[in-house]
Amino acid sequence: MSAAPANEPTFRQSVDLMFNRAAALMDLPPGLEEKIRVCNGVYTVRFGVRLRGQIQTFTGYRAVHSEHMEPVKGGIRYAPSVDQDEVEALAALMTYKCALVEAPFGGSKGGLCIDPRDYDEHELEQITRRFAYELIKRDLIHPSQNVPAPDMGTGEREMAWMADQYARMNTTDINARACVTGKPLNAGGIAGRVEATGRGVQYALREFFRHPEDVLAAGMTGSLDGKRIIVQGLGNVGYHAAKFLSEEDGAKITGIIERDGALYDPSGLNVEKVRDWLIRHGGLTGYPEANSVADGEAVMESDCDILIPAALEGVINLTNAHNIQAKLILEAANGPITAGADDILRSRGVVIIPDLYANAGGVTVSYFEWVKNLSHIRFGRMQRRQEEARHQLVLDELERLDHAMGDAWNLSPSFKDKYLRGADELELVRSGLDDTMRTAYQSMREVWHGRNDVTDLRTAGFIVAIERVARSYRAKGL
Ligand code: NAD
Repeated sequence: MSAAPANEPTFRQSVDLMFNRAAALMDLPPGLEEKIRVCNGVYTVRFGVRLRGQIQTFTGYRAVHSEHMEPVKGGIRYAPSVDQDEVEALAALMTYKCALVEAPFGGSKGGLCIDPRDYDEHELEQITRRFAYELIKRDLIHPSQNVPAPDMGTGEREMAWMADQYARMNTTDINARACVTGKPLNAGGIAGRVEATGRGVQYALREFFRHPEDVLAAGMTGSLDGKRIIVQGLGNVGYHAAKFLSEEDGAKITGIIERDGALYDPSGLNVEKVRDWLIRHGGLTGYPEANSVADGEAVMESDCDILIPAALEGVINLTNAHNIQAKLILEAANGPITAGADDILRSRGVVIIPDLYANAGGVTVSYFEWVKNLSHIRFGRMQRRQEEARHQLVLDELERLDHAMGDAWNLSPSFKDKYLRGADELELVRSGLDDTMRTAYQSMREVWHGRNDVTDLRTAGFIVAIERVARSYRAKGL
């Protein structure tokens, strides 16, 4: 169940409405359009785990939206809101997201209807291993069929348990580690996965601000420097996005909204300190260094340049869309804007950087992790020192020439250090992510500016994604 009011379409219907708006502008055979839109299948499992002396029953789902490419990919969410409609909506978004950023996967998503804060670590491990067992048995976790990743309420720890569960059940599978992504580094993970979605948000905004016409369309000028940003949800995605944008791009995080209220400071909040407080106290209440506002929702409507919803779906809906003052909204969460709110915001000229693009950093780096697991070698391991040796040759030659010319000029020491250092895995991952975010933005932008009948980035993104999925189905003879 999303945060949207009951009089609005469900999350899945909302995604379908957005799909339909794009598909109406395309020339797809009607049968193919329907084939792409519908969810291929959803598996529901109810399982019991003995906890605190009695058996508790849990309900979990794994939806597979499209298998035009395999494996299918998508996170596993732990939240009380999880239901079939939600996982189907999220699985559909995964299909379009993977197509848009050219990650060679179909779309999937899973969820367990549980509030993880109600259980201790040992209990969560028991529950997770049992849920994973049910999915593994049916190839719904499998390196070449279905590869989960973290989502709301799950992280590296849960992915490590799932990977270990798969390895225990498939002792001879040499590619076992590729069965889930988002694992810790020491369990087959990749450098930069934890920060990836937030980092992708930063790269998406940087790319947006490289195009003055796009910035102007959102009623702004200049760069990210000094822009006022409000973030909802300081979890994995929101925290990393807020941290990078404030520390590296000069943006000011003027508002942070969490479950128990919000903090507001026009001169900019210290993201690290707020995050530290949130982790230690489980909420923002009592944070001493900023104005706190009990009604968090109201802060979403306050004056700012960029609004980044990074918590859950349906938070910008028919009841508040008219009041949102941000000129640019970046959907770091999946589905934070309902289809109805999207209509209102577009008619008001608000520019929206849509979820299928904006939060694709996670799946992009998951793709790199999966490739790393299948190739059984860390990125950069073969090239790094060789690259450094070649750079050293160039520097030695420059210094020899300089000496021959009577020491006329000197290379600055910082240049030498930077130039000499071969790229490690983290640098390569960031480079691949940056390239992906830039390329995907360009492909959406071409449609946004290139067609008279497309007036927003979401429709453009859907058109690019649907076209790619359609091409892949056509190649299979469908
Ligand atoms: P998370 O569990 O790490 O963080 C979610 C945060 O939102 C928490 O701090 C939580 O307290 C807060 N929150 C929950 N309900 C709230 C409410 N009603 N109001 C304000 N804050 C609230 O989850 P995450 O991984 O950061 O995921 C957030 C969103 O990003 C989800 O929509 C998820 O699908 C999407 N996403 C995540 C990833 C990823 O790699 N983790 C990738 C793509 C998309």
